[in-house]
Amino acid sequence: MPKPCPYRSRIQKAKHGRKLLAETEKRLGTRIRFVRGAESEFDPNEYIIRIGPQSKFRKYGIDSHWTNHLLFHEFGHAVIEAFRDQFDHAAERKVFVGRTSSHYPEGFLDRLASIDSKTYSRKSVTWYGKLHPEEAWAEAFSFVFGNVDDSAEPEEVIQQLAYVDWVIENIVRGKTRWGRFEMPTIPVECECGEVFDLECRKSSDTRGWEVDCPDCDDTLIL
Ligand SMILES: [Zn+2]
Ligand SMILES: [Zn+2]
Repeated sequence: MPKPCPYRSRIQKAKHGRKLLAETEKRLGTRIRFVRGAESEFDPNEYIIRIGPQSKFRKYGIDSHWTNHLLFHEFGHAVIEAFRDQFDHAAERKVFVGRTSSHYPEGFLDRLASIDSKTYSRKSVTWYGKLHPEEAWAEAFSFVFGNVDDSAEPEEVIQQLAYVDWVIENIVRGKTRWGRFEMPTIPVECECGEVFDLECRKSSDTRGWEVDCPDCDDTLIL
């Protein structure tokens, strides 16, 4: 039985969250202030992230768990703002970009059509993330940061989550050159003796995953 996929597990510690915040603030050259305000918004001039009040969110069924999600989402935008030069050079950022809108709810298509970018996010961990690649990034960031269950997510979303994990790791380790993003792998050993690396394209909690051994063609169930 292989170990679960390593993505995400590295960043659950609070100290990494604080380091990520510190590195992002350093890049922005200003502090990020999390304040309670009338609604969730991101002000790029002052880097104020306003969340709340709770009573307003409760009306829409948003509990404190989802308030955190919104907060992490806005922080995700701050991270991309701070490290935009890295993102712009990272070809891998295309994991958030697609060219189809066929899956969008009908009433949403007009709004999407008004966005000048023709590159829509094909997949996202949430419906909202489909609006724009940077929203897909912010949603994926929030889900990784909040350690939300990903067990029902398709492979393309898992790839986004793993990418977020990779970005966070680069930042907290203070890497100036991020290198190439590759999907994390786990070692798998077949009964024939072959050991091979398997890309973690499924949820870290997935079990019952069928894989063909590249050497003997046996099907392994992980
Ligand atoms: Zn957003
Ligand atoms: Zn084998």
